[in-house]
Amino acid sequence: MKLAGRVAIITGASKGIGRAVALAMASEGAGVIALGNTDVAGAEDVARRIVEGGGQALAMKADVRNADEIQAVLRAALERFGSVDILVNNAGITRDNFIFRMTEDEWLEVMDVNLKGAFLTTKIIGHQMFRQRAGRIINISSVVGLRGNPGQANYSSSKAGIIGLTKTAAREFAGRGVTVNAIAPGFIATQMTERLPEASKTALLSLVPLGRPGTPEEVARVAVFLASDDASYITGQVICVDGGMTM
Ligand code: NAD
Repeated sequence: MKLAGRVAIITGASKGIGRAVALAMASEGAGVIALGNTDVAGAEDVARRIVEGGGQALAMKADVRNADEIQAVLRAALERFGSVDILVNNAGITRDNFIFRMTEDEWLEVMDVNLKGAFLTTKIIGHQMFRQRAGRIINISSVVGLRGNPGQANYSSSKAGIIGLTKTAAREFAGRGVTVNAIAPGFIATQMTERLPEASKTALLSLVPLGRPGTPEEVARVAVFLASDDASYITGQVICVDGGMTM
């Protein structure tokens, strides 16, 4: 098992990619703290499945915009497991609109969850890894942070920001044995993409050389790799899991 004895905190673990990452890390032996927000019941379901399968897991409510809630997660993780080895910044939202129609609220809401949220968890939980002199931070960016996307000025800017955060944290934390990498998924079949109009889905799929959407599990396997000893010499990187979309 690649993550035996490690402890992983996963934001937005109630569904989609976060859920798949939590289950995949647990199946490789990690103790998991699965975080949900308003939909914490989903995270509780993930934790239940892990425990029923013989693993160790805890579910908690944490809005990534709220530093106090993240501090509480760190305290609970340390109480229960004694260390935190892996942080997956997965929580994310979209509020799509063309730039001329996009409201300031739509801009700010997406920035707050997607970018400030990852900053706060990196600051608070990353600090614990810094003290431990070991750790893995994996940020879920997006291919639209690399290539842009009409209707997603807020989302693509937040995901490009995640890449800047990843590279800066990678440089700041490298001397302490903490690696920081990003995954940029392409078109992955989750509730987030299910909501897209059919025409947008068809247009997106036409950009994917492999000709199909990815699955949350295909993203999760890369997160497991980045968290494992196999990725010990990789930091500050952005790995596209996109069926060839960005090449
Ligand atoms: P999803 O909508 O299925 O899940 C999003 C998760 O984020 C949920 O668990 C939700 O509870 C959580 N969340 C939302 N707001 C939160 C907040 N304020 N505090 C804490 N948690 C919050 O989406 P998904 O498709 O699984 O996406 C997961 C991540 O992957 C996101 O960062 C998304 O931007 C990114 N991504 C997804 C795709 C895709 O095609 N699905 C592509 C590229 C990147």
